[in-house]
Amino acid sequence: MIDFTLNMILFKLFLFLSLKGFSNIYSGALADPNSTIRVQLWRAQGYLNQAVLTEFDDRAHYDDEIWMRDNRTIDFMIFDIEADQMASFLDEHNVSHKILIEDVRERVDDALVHTFPTRRYGQIDRTPRGALDWTKYPTLDQIHAYLERINKKYQHCNLITLGKSVNNKPIYVLKISTMNPTNKAILIDSGIHGREWTSVVSMLYFIDTIVRDFRHQPSYIKDRDWHIIPVLNPDGYEYSLNNDRLWKKNRRKVSEFCYGVDLNRNFEYNWAKQSSTRSVCSDTFCGRAPFSEPETQAFKKLTDGPRFHGYLSIHSAGTKVLFPMGVTSSDHVDQITMTKAMAQAMRGFQNYQFVSGDIHAMGKVGYGMAIDWMYFTKKIKHSYIIETRGQNGLDVLVPKEILPAAKEVHIGIMKFAELFNS
Ligand SMILES: [Zn+2]
Repeated sequence: MIDFTLNMILFKLFLFLSLKGFSNIYSGALADPNSTIRVQLWRAQGYLNQAVLTEFDDRAHYDDEIWMRDNRTIDFMIFDIEADQMASFLDEHNVSHKILIEDVRERVDDALVHTFPTRRYGQIDRTPRGALDWTKYPTLDQIHAYLERINKKYQHCNLITLGKSVNNKPIYVLKISTMNPTNKAILIDSGIHGREWTSVVSMLYFIDTIVRDFRHQPSYIKDRDWHIIPVLNPDGYEYSLNNDRLWKKNRRKVSEFCYGVDLNRNFEYNWAKQSSTRSVCSDTFCGRAPFSEPETQAFKKLTDGPRFHGYLSIHSAGTKVLFPMGVTSSDHVDQITMTKAMAQAMRGFQNYQFVSGDIHAMGKVGYGMAIDWMYFTKKIKHSYIIETRGQNGLDVLVPKEILPAAKEVHIGIMKFAELFNS
């Protein structure tokens, strides 16, 4: 058996089920945990003539149905009820075939059951209302119930509705503060991209840790005003949880067939500078105008209020700490020092190789992003992105990894707060 990592299997399966699911008669069966339909991984090997290649090209519109392909080999996923038909087709063309994984879903079942919102798999969620369980990703309702509970419970918390999403969900900012007028304000957001569940859980974990014992936190925590937006894109988060694991944008209807604006391309600085972001159906569609979306308007409204001295945006996943592109002033040196220290502190936890650097040099090319707007327009020197553990935007963690990933972000934010002094 080939050694596919669990994360990779999970990711491919999510893609397969979500992309194939909507247009497919099996989707109902697959959403049902008692379904007897299995997803298998096959390998076809031999001379791949044009007819075979065409068949697989046709299948490829489901994207990650095909895991690997070279001149003589194709590894692909298939429903077991399609197996006979596929076997005859390959036999007809003298292509040998074998099953690499009999039941892909069974292989990842543990991770699915524990990390997916339980309601989707028909289980009863026993997490008390308003409490969070750090081995699962919470639903939006659970997050809101949690925020409302701590808002009532802790005097130093103040939960404010900044605005409403396209689908009328509240966008909350939680202010944690002793209200000392000399405190400097720091803004943190997470969940700007719907599918980045770990960013949201990490933020909630940071909140949970500091609010429980706020007055006994180090002065670099308690003598600051923390403004935290845990889910900047509530519609995208919900849609990713319930409908399409890989959903990234908000849920605005932008054309007859397409939905969503990438909120992290909707900020005014260098807006729409990259032509691909103007295409309405693209995953990075920048919107019809800067700040066209209620979610980014809510963010802007907040930053038009008190002066912020530091800004962090939490994304998942990439194992990185990033500063804005093209900084030429002396700020650059301080940004390098800060992000290096944060990455080093995060590496020290479980030896995940966090790296730091310029956002563009580190491969995240984009325009109209929040971080650039906060630095270049709002003049906040300490503006950074933390990408949680994991690579290439692959935010798929098994249950036991969710809490360590959140703790790592906590360590990164603590280091940021400790070194931050302007
Ligand atoms: Zn992101």
